[in-house]
Formats: sequence, C-alpha cells, structure tokens
Amino acid sequence: METLIQASYLIAAALFILGLKQMSSPVTARRGILWAGAGMVLATLATFLTPEILDSPQSTTNIILIIVAIALGGGYAWVSGKKVAMTDMPQMIAMYNGMGGGAAATIAAVELLKASTEASHDVTGATTIADALGADVAILGILGAVIGTISFSGSIIAWAKLDGRLNRSKLLPAQHLVNAVLAIATAGFAIAIYFSADLNTIITFYVLALILGIFITVPVGGADMPVIISLFNALTGLAVGFEGYVLGNAAMIIAGIVVGSAGSLLTQLMAVAMNRSVANVFFAGVGTTESTAGGDGTEGVMKEIQAQDAGILMSFASQVIIIPGYGMAVAQAQHKIWELTQLLTDKGVTVKFAIHPVAGRMPGHMNVLLAEAGVPYDMIYDMEDVNAEFKTTTVALVIGANDVVNPSAKDDASSPLYGMPILNAYESDNVIVIKRGRGAGFSGVENPLFFADNTKMLFGDGQKAASQLIQSVKEL
Ligand code: NAP
Repeated sequence: METLIQASYLIAAALFILGLKQMSSPVTARRGILWAGAGMVLATLATFLTPEILDSPQSTTNIILIIVAIALGGGYAWVSGKKVAMTDMPQMIAMYNGMGGGAAATIAAVELLKASTEASHDVTGATTIADALGADVAILGILGAVIGTISFSGSIIAWAKLDGRLNRSKLLPAQHLVNAVLAIATAGFAIAIYFSADLNTIITFYVLALILGIFITVPVGGADMPVIISLFNALTGLAVGFEGYVLGNAAMIIAGIVVGSAGSLLTQLMAVAMNRSVANVFFAGVGTTESTAGGDGTEGVMKEIQAQDAGILMSFASQVIIIPGYGMAVAQAQHKIWELTQLLTDKGVTVKFAIHPVAGRMPGHMNVLLAEAGVPYDMIYDMEDVNAEFKTTTVALVIGANDVVNPSAKDDASSPLYGMPILNAYESDNVIVIKRGRGAGFSGVENPLFFADNTKMLFGDGQKAASQLIQSVKEL
C-alpha cells in the first residue's frame, strides 16, 4: 500500500510540473491546468489510503468528514469558477491564494495543538513542542504557520482591494514602526512556541500573525498590488511545502515547492517591471495614494475626438500602436479591437500591440484576452521591445489603460507611481484614449497624458468605441 501511495504522489508531482510547464504559453495553458488538476485528484485519492486515515479508530467518521469538506469546497469552487467574470479572476486568485495559506496554517495549528496537549499532559515525557514534534518538524511547522497565516489575512485584504470593497491604501501614523513591532512580536511568539507547550502562546501567535498580514497589505497601494499578490502566492506555496514535511506528504512538499519557486520568480519579474524592490513593497507601503488620489493639480483640459475623426486619423497612419489595459477587459473589447486591427492592416497601416507587464489585474491578463480574440503573437510586443518605436508612431491608441501610460511615473517624484516604467505613448505624434470618463486607474492617480497637446479623448465604453471606429474605418 505504501508503495502505491508514494508512486501516486510521484505521478501527481510529475503532473504538477508538466502542467506548470504547459501553463507558460496561452496555447497550451488550458491543457496544463487539466494535467495539474488530474495530479491533484490523484494525490487526494492516494491520501485516502494512508494508514493514518484507514487504520484510525474513527476512520469512518474521518472519511465522511473529508468527503463532506471536499464536496463543500469543491462544489463552491466549481460553481464560482463557472460563474466568475473574466474581470473578477484576479480577486478569485487572491482568495484562493489566501485559502492555501490558511489551509497550511490550519494544518500547523492542529499539529501544534496536538503536541501542546501531549507535552502538557506528559503523555510521552515531552515537555515542549520541540520535544513532542522533533526539532525539524517543529521548526518547519512553525515557519509554515507564520507564512501561511500572514498570506491568509494579507490575501483577504488583497481580495477586498481588488474587488473594490476596500479602496484606499491607508498608512497609519507610524505604520512602519507598528509593522516592525508586530513582526518582532510575531517572531518572538513563534520562537516561544518552540520552547513551550503553552496554549495561550500559540493563540497569541496566530492572532499577531493574522494582524501582521493585514497591516502589511493595507498600506500597499499605487500600482504595487501585483507584486504583493504574487508574493503571497509564493509564500502560500512555501507554507504548504513546509506543512507537507510536517505531515510527511511528498506530494504536498513538491506541489508547495513548485508553487513557491514559480511564485518567487513571478514576484521578482513583477517587482522588476514596477522598478520596486520586493522588500520595499512588503515593508514600506510604497505607492500609497492617500494624498494624491483624486488629483495632483494636473492642469489643462481634455480634448475630445469623435470616432469618425479618430478612424480617419488611424486609416491614414503609417503605424498605430494599440495599448490595451484593464478597461479593455471590463468592456470585453478585444474582439472588436482585433477586427479594427485587421481593417487597418488591410489599408496598409502597420499595427502593433504594446503590453505593459502589469496591465490589467493579473500577470498576462492582456496576452490572454488578445490570444482569445485571435491576435497573432508576432503582433504583440513587450514594453522593452516596443518603447523605442513610439517616437516614430503616428497614433498610439490607448484602450482602457491608464496607470501604465502615466508620464508622472517618469517625471513627478511625488507621484506614487514614480519610478515605474511605462509605455511611452506620450511620445507618439497622436494619442487617442478610449475610456468612459474621467475615472482614475487602479492607483487613483491623475494622468497628465490625458491633458497633453497631442492627446484626444474618445469617451465611451471600450467595446462601443471600438465598434464606432470600425464603422468609421469601413466607411472610408
Ligand atoms: P488602470 O490604470 O486600472 O485603468 C483602467 C482604465 O480603464 C480606467 O482609467 C477606466 O477609466 C477605464 N475603463 C474601465 N472600464 C472601462 C470600459 N468599460 N471601457 C473603457 N474604459 C474603461 O489599468 P491599466 O493601465 O491596465 O493598469 C493596471 C493597474 O492595475 C496598474 O496600476 C497595476 O499595478 C494594477 N494591478 C495590476 C495587476 C496585474 O497583475 N496586472 C494586479 C493588481 C493590480 P474610466 O472609468 O474613465 O472608463
């Protein structure tokens, strides 16, 4: 039986890794998700065969409880996964990150409570948690508890922010000091757990770690959320890996390491894209919007353009660069934009798509939408490959993007976006911006690009505006 279980875990681990590999391209990503999911089903089934479950005196109760938990969690995830709008995916991912961290922290809590009871009642002669669990298991279990709990409460705050339930980044007075004190206290109680068997120490530790996760995430603002979300993803993986060691479950260890390392790489990429250090985002609350949301004194007026004139301008352009952002996802305008692109290409216009690494609300958000609409990959350019071209571009068409084209990231040291690399749309001969009104982007920061001399605003929902542009180009 043991060989069968370990073999299943090995196959599951191989499926996780192969699945992840396939997720690196939109062409194979769906298959990758299915492979990794099959691995998870296999690992879950194998777990039912473990002696801890089968040979336990309450095996029937345990199995029923596990099945009920799987049915509840799986059922809810199935229904919500089917229903979720594409624009709400990032919140769902933040929530699932949190659930993973919470699950790891709960496993640690169960093991710590068991060890605490054993040590307090002198069952095995052990007097501390370290004695009861063994040093390696105790250390990794406690570390997993710290990381998992912070990731749990932090991800819930990230979910609330992405879902628009918690809008502002709030910096408390002396926030950094409060965070530092909380971090030291949490670490202190984590160490104290190792050397004691006291139930109150364990409870205080969990409360402190929960508060720390909240306090770390609340101040993160500006445009730094992608970094913190991928960081929580990585931390959740690490916590699951540690708790896998505590339970002696190879599949959990490997799945945790895979998620932890992939998440760490993603965090690093996101941080580089934002020109921030991970430590800065995590500890400093960089990019808070408190003082700047709603206006930074940007002067001038927005100049409007009608779709018909915008269509003419683009039809006679030599090159058009399209910059999609979150608003394109909200409007589901990708299909219309692709139709527009084909019409312009037929007229001899060179059209390129410029993708900012944090455009939208999740990594690769724009690539996924454009792939879904059928835009060929050779028309899609990363920021560093396309930025030099704006100077020689007739029209930069910004559709539902805001923060990723905000020039104050370059020239306004007081802006929460300062230092973030942007797409240099402002350098084009003409900039046409499609958005519904004067709404700010995710960071809440005013965008001087919209007031620039070479910028014209095409107000309206992204899909409707794209349809009007198609009509205008067709009529020429
Ligand atoms: P953005 O700065 O959030 O701006 C989106 C713009 O789209 C808004 O100004 C809005 O203006 C417009 N819009 C909304 N609905 C629209 C519709 N139906 N039709 C047309 N326009 C619409 O978007 P972004 O430039 O893509 O930048 C992404 C931001 O999200 C960055 O700050 C990034 O850091 C952050 N973020 C990214 C991730 C990630 O992983 N990619 C994760 C979390 C946060 P109106 O209301 O006036 O229409």
